[in-house]
Amino acid sequence: MTKISLSDIVLNPSCMDDYDPNSMPVDKARTFISQFLSPVTNIENLSLRDTLGRVLATDILSPCNVPNHDNSAMDGYAYNAESIVNSHIKADGKTSLKVIGTAFAGKAFNDAVSLGECVRIMTGAVMPTATDTVIMQERITTVGNIITLNETQKRGTNVRYAGEDLKLNQVVLAAGHLMRPADLGLIASLGIGELPVFRKLKVAFFSTGDELTQIGQPLATGQIYDSNRYTLYGMLTRLGVEVIDMGVVRDDPALLESALLEAAGQADVILTTGGVSVGEADYMKDLLAKHGQVLFWKIAMKPGRPLAFGKISTGQHTAHYFGLPGNPVSTMVTFYQFVRDAMLRLMGQDNPKPSPLLNAVCTADIKKLTGRTEFQRGILYLAGDGHWQVKPVGSQGSGVLRSMSEANCFIVLDDTVGNIAAGATVQVQILEGII
Ligand code: AMP
Ligand code: MG
Repeated sequence: MTKISLSDIVLNPSCMDDYDPNSMPVDKARTFISQFLSPVTNIENLSLRDTLGRVLATDILSPCNVPNHDNSAMDGYAYNAESIVNSHIKADGKTSLKVIGTAFAGKAFNDAVSLGECVRIMTGAVMPTATDTVIMQERITTVGNIITLNETQKRGTNVRYAGEDLKLNQVVLAAGHLMRPADLGLIASLGIGELPVFRKLKVAFFSTGDELTQIGQPLATGQIYDSNRYTLYGMLTRLGVEVIDMGVVRDDPALLESALLEAAGQADVILTTGGVSVGEADYMKDLLAKHGQVLFWKIAMKPGRPLAFGKISTGQHTAHYFGLPGNPVSTMVTFYQFVRDAMLRLMGQDNPKPSPLLNAVCTADIKKLTGRTEFQRGILYLAGDGHWQVKPVGSQGSGVLRSMSEANCFIVLDDTVGNIAAGATVQVQILEGII
C-alpha cells in the first residue's frame, strides 16, 4: 500500500487505487489504521511489579551471566571425569570415589578436589573447583565414605553452565515488549528492580444517543440503559490503559462538539459509540470533519459495519479517534478486531501478534455470504472424542449482548467462506487469555 497522508485520503479518496470506503475489507482496514498511529514516547521508570502490562521503552541487557556459576542440575556427587580413566577403576570395571565433603545450594565447597575424590552436591550448588560432572545419587552405591558409580557417563553430565540461560550483556527483553508475569520473574532473576517503560495510554470514551439512560435512572418509554461504556471499560482496563469515562452525550451538536474537544485535549485516543451509521452520522461527521481528519468506512464484516477512524485536534493537542457502531455486539467486535491491535501499538508494543486462530469442528450449519468476514459468537468445548468443537450461540443479533456473555470465542468466517455445513472445520478466536 502506498504511503499516503490521512488528509490526502479524507480530501480526495479517489487518489488511491483500490480504496472503497463503502466496502472495506477487514485486513485492509487494519493495515490503514496501523499506518496512522503515533505511539506514546514519554518514558517513566517504574519498580518491577508496576511494569506488569506496560511496554518496555529500551532493550534490557543482562547485567550478569545466568546462572552466575557452573552448578549442579541434580542431587548427587560431583567429580572430575578424568577419574574414570585412571587408577580408580575397580576390578569389576566400575569407578569408586572418596567423598570428601558436601556442597549445598548457597553454601559452596571450597577445598580442592583431586582425581579419585568427589563431593556430595545438591541441586543448584556451585560445582567445586576441578569437578566437571555430576552423577545422580540414585546411580551409585555407598560403602562408608566410598561411592561406586553404577554407570559411566559423559563429562559434563548434570552440570548447568554459567551463562547457559543468559549471557552477560545479552538482550533479555527488547524495547517494545509488553511485560507479562514471566517477564517480572525473569527480570527479578537478574537482580533488576526498576525498568523504563512507556507512560500509560490515556483513552477517553463516551456513548452517544438520545435514547441512552445511565444506570440508577428510571427508564422512560423508548429508552435503554447505556451498556457500551461498561463493556468498553472492561476491555480497556484489561488492556492496561488509563480510562477516562465521559458518560453519555446526547445527539446534540453543541454537546457532542464540546465532549469531542474536551476528550481531544486530554487523551491519546478517543472512542465513541453510536452515531456513525447512516442516518444519524451527520452531526458527528460534520464535527469530525471540522476538528480533524476522519475516514468513514463500511467494513465488509458482520457485525460491525460502520467504523470511523482518524485524528481529532484541539489546535494544541491531537488524539486518535475511533467511532464504533452503537449496537452493543458490534461495539465489542470492532473493538477486538481493530481497536485492540491499534491500542497495543499506541502503547509502544512492537508488532503486536494477532490473537491466534485455531481450528474446531462446527456443530451446526451456518448461513453465510461470501465477500464479508463474519465474527459469529460461539462456545468452544472439548467433545467426548477428544476433539475441540464449537457451537454457535443461539442468537447472533448485533444488539444481543447476551451472545457475547455466553460465548467464549468468535467463529471467524473470512470473506472467501460461504455457507458452512455442520461437521465442517472452522477457525475460532478465543476471547479469554489463561488469566
Ligand atoms: P447507532 O449506531 O447510534 O445508530 O446505534 C445503533 C443501535 O445501538 C441502536 O439500537 C442504539 O440504541 C444502540 N446503542 C447505541 N449506543 C448504545 C449504548 N451505549 N448502549 C446500548 N445500546 C446502544
Ligand atoms: Mg445513536
